[in-house]
Amino acid sequence: MQGHSDLSAPFDCSGFMIERLQVSEAEEYEEGDVSREQHLEKLKAGHTFDLLIIGGGATGCGVALDAATRGLKVALVEKNDFSEGTSSRSTKLVHGGVRYLEAAVKKLDRVQYHLVRDGLKERYRLLKNAPHLSNRLALVTPLYRWIDVPYVFIGLKLYDLLSGKRHIGHSQLLSRKEALRRFPMLKAEGLKAGVLYYDGQFHDARMALSLALTAQHHGATISNHVAVTGLIKRDDKICGAEVTDSLTGESWTIHARGVINATGPFADRIRQMDNPAASEIIYTSTGIHIVLDKRFTLPDTGLMIPETEDGRVLFVLPWEDHALIGTTDEPAAITEHPKPLDSEIEYLLRHVSRYFNLKVERSDIKAAWSGLRPLVKDPEAVNTASLARDHVIELSADGLLTIAGGKWTTYREMAMDAVDQALNCFLIEAPNPDCQTRHLTVLGGANYYEEGDQFLIEKYGFAADVAAYLHRTYGDQAELVARLNTPQDGIRLVDGYPILEAEVLYAVRYEMAERVIDVLARRTPLALIDNAAARSAVPRVLEIMAEELGWDQRRCAEETQLAVQRLSEGL
Ligand SMILES: Cc1cc2nc3c(=O)[nH]c(=O)nc-3n(C[C@H](O)[C@H](O)[C@H](O)COP(=O)(O)OP(=O)(O)OC[C@H]3O[C@@H](n4cnc5c(N)ncnc54)[C@H](O)[C@@H]3O)c2cc1C
Repeated sequence: MQGHSDLSAPFDCSGFMIERLQVSEAEEYEEGDVSREQHLEKLKAGHTFDLLIIGGGATGCGVALDAATRGLKVALVEKNDFSEGTSSRSTKLVHGGVRYLEAAVKKLDRVQYHLVRDGLKERYRLLKNAPHLSNRLALVTPLYRWIDVPYVFIGLKLYDLLSGKRHIGHSQLLSRKEALRRFPMLKAEGLKAGVLYYDGQFHDARMALSLALTAQHHGATISNHVAVTGLIKRDDKICGAEVTDSLTGESWTIHARGVINATGPFADRIRQMDNPAASEIIYTSTGIHIVLDKRFTLPDTGLMIPETEDGRVLFVLPWEDHALIGTTDEPAAITEHPKPLDSEIEYLLRHVSRYFNLKVERSDIKAAWSGLRPLVKDPEAVNTASLARDHVIELSADGLLTIAGGKWTTYREMAMDAVDQALNCFLIEAPNPDCQTRHLTVLGGANYYEEGDQFLIEKYGFAADVAAYLHRTYGDQAELVARLNTPQDGIRLVDGYPILEAEVLYAVRYEMAERVIDVLARRTPLALIDNAAARSAVPRVLEIMAEELGWDQRRCAEETQLAVQRLSEGL
């Protein structure tokens, strides 16, 4: 089991200690209840769970972890793969929301103020609780009007101040000369100054997976590729759901004392399974990202335009040794696998060259993807047209608890609120009535220490890039991947990338990867950073998975077709 580690205590850095701890953890994990088959057996066994959670994104996985650590009997089902919805396609920033702060100050709005303050607290906790999957990121905003210099700088100082003892770095004002020297990608013409500030960055898909796996470490029964197709009621109260395994077509019923709808953009579909007349509360907006070679960014600093002329955010961030460029937000229809439109990509290319000293051609794009943000209309709000800035929790007449909105950064707080409400409204007594996740390290983080990549190099002979990647991707579980690795220094899945073939086996054996695209787009970041490389890896990933899982020719053909379809039509 993952311990409740004291994060104020320094991490243990002695190699011996780490090695010993890793082995014992690894063994325990190996014996753990990790196979999807075992989870499915439990889901089919006719138990009544305390809570059934629908949706395996940031929200659902966070709720499962919160509930399981309070000692509840928890089931979670995800229709596709964990985080296959919005939660693997975010901008990967852990932030308090500088933009909300501006609104809080301009409109003296307490709600916005609390939103930023809570976001900053959660920023700190995420960085502490998932140290391997997250890092501090410096961001620079160029200023082109003198009036913006004091305005933005004071705003960012307030941002630092609000984070209090949880601050992660002090903002600085940069002179024009200094800004251009350090950040040559900034447009020189008209530049007055720059401000440098700090937020966090993380690997969203692996974070959701780690939350799910940590929840199962604490006793939750979880499965991906299981969809809720209907809700079941007794005496007009929801008491479970009908589900279908999307891989086999098998259907059955799961009983629970309470059902939580954490399906993000799809929340209305579940609400309407409960009450077909329920009015919609979800509005979706899209944000797109393109990924370029690392020469378009600096390795440790992102560039951020908080508001372009047409009011959008525009950023160039380093991520996984590449440049992540993106913008938000356009109203969009709900689709499971959204694809950036040509017009959106053209928009981004135009704006990048307008705002930055970067000449980006369409041919420079290595990958492009988009995500749907679930914005929620508060059903209790007097002004029904206004969208909630925070998350919303709604209890229907027949007892469906819906949680939606918020942002990745605040998933833990959202989960805590949802479980608090669930205990109340479903009259469940939890062994631990209070939230346990404030200082709970997620899987891979407990024995993580910064220089752990050196240990992997020394013990396993990995190249430096492979060791660094394994270390930041798997944390203290990296040795489990290393042990699956033959020959010792590792076979790369694709030339030029640190991703190993051994990770495919690891993903199948320990991380419930069931499809080729699960490995390419979520267990590893390959599909998000290099579409062509991901395509070229399909046959080898298929071969390894087919052998491990005993797939027949029909399944192999289906997997190839699905992987190619997702890589060309939207992840
Ligand atoms: C472009 C973009 C950038 C963003 N960037 C950031 C950022 O940098 N930082 C930040 O903090 N936040 C960011 N966000 C917000 C954040 O990504 C979302 O708030 C968060 O991921 C939503 O998680 P969720 O679990 O509610 O929804 P989702 O991740 O969409 O999860 C819902 C899940 O429910 C499943 N589901 C649906 N129907 C069923 C069913 N019938 N049965 C079972 N399962 C079902 C879906 O398959 C899906 O996996 C961004 C959002 C967007 C769109």
